[in-house]
Amino acid sequence: MNSANIRIVLVNPSHPGNIGGAARAMKNMGLRQLVLVAPRKFPHEEAEWRAASAVDLLEQAVVVESLAEAIADCQLVIGTSARGRRIPWPVLDPRRCAEEVQASVARDEQVALVFGREDSGLTNEELQTCNLHLHIPSHEDYPSLNLAMAVQVVSYELRMLALDGQLPQASTDEWDAPFSTMENMERFYQHLEQTLVQIEFLDPAAPRQLMARLRRLYGRVRLDEMELNILRGILTETQRAASAGRPEN
Ligand code: SAH
Repeated sequence: MNSANIRIVLVNPSHPGNIGGAARAMKNMGLRQLVLVAPRKFPHEEAEWRAASAVDLLEQAVVVESLAEAIADCQLVIGTSARGRRIPWPVLDPRRCAEEVQASVARDEQVALVFGREDSGLTNEELQTCNLHLHIPSHEDYPSLNLAMAVQVVSYELRMLALDGQLPQASTDEWDAPFSTMENMERFYQHLEQTLVQIEFLDPAAPRQLMARLRRLYGRVRLDEMELNILRGILTETQRAASAGRPEN
């Protein structure tokens, strides 16, 4: 996904901290184009402070006077809203929104994601200039997210879609020891069973489901050879201690 075609537009943000927070959220997720529509305080040291290593986005941010100017050259405009509006409009969640954005960017279109004022969001007129609306499915007890947090959620979904298929699937890809073979696992279970009998934890006359449960436990974990050796060592020492403590008569 070419992120150069995607811009984040903040309409009349009042808190400079939110502008910085939005810039940081964007850069973390690989977005760079920030457009500010008549920000109340900008530039501002609080914005820089919250942006941390994303101050370059603030330096490059485009400041305009109206939403119309911010989106004039865009082919897809998505307006975000914390609540439903009077006239029903096509509403997406952030994941579906990312798909729409990806399809649009693939056609080399310019896309704007528009965020509203901290206190009152976007006006109905502003929302009606948007092709689609986006709502983050927040809890009805408190549906409105902090502005920068809303930017974070939307940018994250774009990133996840852009990275699709490239993320490592399992964290065991680069394990430091090979996983145990079934043959070694069988030896371990025999050793475990012998030991449990020896310490009288397992009664061979009434084994119940103990070994089955232990197999299920270790099977779920998937032991590697190193871990298996540690457990075998513990069993060997347990057996030695048990026979030392209870001399044969
Ligand atoms: N009281 C305002 C809330 C504005 S929150 C209102 O009811 O509209 C500031 C901005 O953060 C919103 O304009 C929107 O851009 C974004 N935002 C906050 N919560 C959101 C949500 N649940 N879904 C989508 N955008 C949200």
